[in-house]
Amino acid sequence: AKESGRNMLQFFQDSMQEAAMERMLIEKELRQALDENQLSLYYQPQVDYHGTLMGAEALIRWNHPKKGFIPPDKFIPIAEECGLIQAVGAWVLEQSFIHLRQWDRLQVHLPHLAINISPRQFYHDDFMGILGRLVKQYQISPSRIMLEFTEGLLMNDVDVAIDKIKQLKKLGYTFSIDDFGTGYSSLSYLKHLPVDQLKIDKSFVEDITKNEDDAVFVGTIIAIARHMNLGVVAEGVESKMELEFLKQNGCLCYQGYYFSKPLPEDQFFEHWLRKAKQ
Ligand code: C2E
Ligand code: CA
Ligand code: CA
Ligand code: CA
Repeated sequence: AKESGRNMLQFFQDSMQEAAMERMLIEKELRQALDENQLSLYYQPQVDYHGTLMGAEALIRWNHPKKGFIPPDKFIPIAEECGLIQAVGAWVLEQSFIHLRQWDRLQVHLPHLAINISPRQFYHDDFMGILGRLVKQYQISPSRIMLEFTEGLLMNDVDVAIDKIKQLKKLGYTFSIDDFGTGYSSLSYLKHLPVDQLKIDKSFVEDITKNEDDAVFVGTIIAIARHMNLGVVAEGVESKMELEFLKQNGCLCYQGYYFSKPLPEDQFFEHWLRKAKQ
């Protein structure tokens, strides 16, 4: 037993070391990725029941020269931990504004764009400064920008967060709570949060047609949102049945593979923006 205990310990030490090395490698390579244009933005349409374009969410992609495509779930948390999220986040803002400006010039109009903001990026002293400089540079009206954050952001310091959200809202930005319902916060915080929208996580939408609990839960989120005069978007809509359920429960805006996967800029332009123009 002693022997196998030691083996077990060795195993954990090895795998912890491996994980640490992997993180360091990703950190190093992500720096390079920023310098060498390996990052790109995809856009996933947000639509109404009839599939009419209402907005889009910008989603980052990393195309590694050797490893191929690395999903954001794998590198965003590392970027957040090591502080690289400042540079990555600023890149996302600038790149999406470049695209918005480009579309405006071509006279195709995207009503609003949702951008994911991570906690460390949001709390950074210069977050508002960076945003301000970029909207000015690319002549973007803040009212078209919806900032998405998760409940995790509020764990840090609710008062500071609320204060910052209020300042940004005065400038016209809107806010959405991403992955709503997956965090540990109590519902009571919602009353004090000056947000505009709740976003239902795909993990709940996934099972609404199979699991009674999830169906009730999603129905309740929609009811809460409507009661509080908040918009509500369902993420991860993959089937007609899911769409119908959401519609019947009062959800008006949808995002998911049933309508479209996230697309690179040129395809998003071709399949969604150019059509919306006519
Ligand atoms: P999220 O913000 O919850 O984004 C939704 C995720 O669901 C995206 O994964 C999207 O591609 C995926 N999705 C959309 N519709 C469907 C569907 O119908 N079925 C399924 N199975 N999946 C669907 P993605 O692009 O891999 O992003 C994962 C997460 O990475 C995001 O989750 C977000 O937390 C983070 N992320 C992505 N881009 C950024 C960014 O620019 N900045 C920050 N801070 N985080 C980002
Ligand atoms: Ca999101
Ligand atoms: Ca989600
Ligand atoms: Ca599904």
